[in-house]
Amino acid sequence: MTDPIGATLGVVGGGQLGRMLAEAASPLGVEVVVLDPTPDCPASPPAADQLVADFDDEDALAELAARADVVTYEIELADEDALDSLDAPVHPSPESLAITGDKLAEKRALADAGLPVPDFAEVHTESGLEDAFDALGSPLMLKARRGGYDGRGNAVVGSIEEAVDYFGDLSGLIAEELVDFERELSTIGVRGANGVDAFPVVENVHEEEILRETLAPAPGDDASRDAARDVALDVLDVLSGRGVFGIELFQRGDEILVNEIAPRPHNSGHYTIEGTRTSQFEQHVRAVLGLPLGSTELREPAAMANLLGTGESRPADLAGAADALTVTDAHLHWYGKREVRPLRKMGHVTATADSTDTARERAKSAVDALEFR
Ligand code: ADP
Repeated sequence: MTDPIGATLGVVGGGQLGRMLAEAASPLGVEVVVLDPTPDCPASPPAADQLVADFDDEDALAELAARADVVTYEIELADEDALDSLDAPVHPSPESLAITGDKLAEKRALADAGLPVPDFAEVHTESGLEDAFDALGSPLMLKARRGGYDGRGNAVVGSIEEAVDYFGDLSGLIAEELVDFERELSTIGVRGANGVDAFPVVENVHEEEILRETLAPAPGDDASRDAARDVALDVLDVLSGRGVFGIELFQRGDEILVNEIAPRPHNSGHYTIEGTRTSQFEQHVRAVLGLPLGSTELREPAAMANLLGTGESRPADLAGAADALTVTDAHLHWYGKREVRPLRKMGHVTATADSTDTARERAKSAVDALEFR
């Protein structure tokens, strides 16, 4: 256990997750140093310092490790081998990053552990894709094993031609059955020094494969929430090291399938800042430093709506923030990104209420008040 007061947490990546991590670390007396190639990255204002360097820059990583009591990461692009050779504890383990950074390795690890996942197959060639169509049906979901995010690197394809159009070269892909799910659920699992826990199970609404809304708790009966929580706790056994893990699930009938895992705080856990007794960000700080975990209980129903970029890429100039704040119990989180791009995550709003429906209406009306000039 590291005493938090005066401890330094090194964070590889300085996007909005790093920003909210630094905001949560501050009251604990933990200083955050981030490593990110973009000067003035979103995490830079609340962080004590930023090292401006690429995520795999060995000298910068060594400096980060020398300054930090513990190193963590907020992006999957962090280099697991470089992290593994650092002279500081790294949490979650670089091995967890290696598993979750490769969609094929991840599905294999989950399937080997007996966890329910969509049927999948490795694809390298056109004939491999033919075999995948035979085994998994058509159309299927084809994904780049590495480097995809927010659905980029994923395509629903019904023919070899469509696959070649999208991916060009068919090497390094994973094919998955196209799951006809009722809804998408997720939870934030956590491993601390003294055990594991999971935040409430939430429902996520995606459009164009990008998260738009999170509803907490997931509406409906306890049975599906309990089943999802049980699967998520089992998923934690596949991963090593301390920290929070975003665990994305599909619900198909009574069945829960694991879609993917992020070894870091997750967009579907942003509601925890206002919605649960401890936020996912404070929990991550506590976990990686080996401190006692906080309660993951829901304070009250909550809903989160993402603020995504619209229109052309241009300097970010947001109108309506003051209006958004007139909505009862709605809280704006602006990430401070200098440039708005189509569908880029620019901020989010979380609203709380005595029902998830009302929280959803509030979050939506606050986000609808916002507009990029
Ligand atoms: P990323 O890593 O880019 O976030 P995911 O693999 O999580 O990509 O997929 C993004 C979204 O695409 C999911 O939230 C879901 O809506 C949809 N999706 C992913 N895999 C499947 C699948 N096998 N069947 C149906 N939909 C899927």
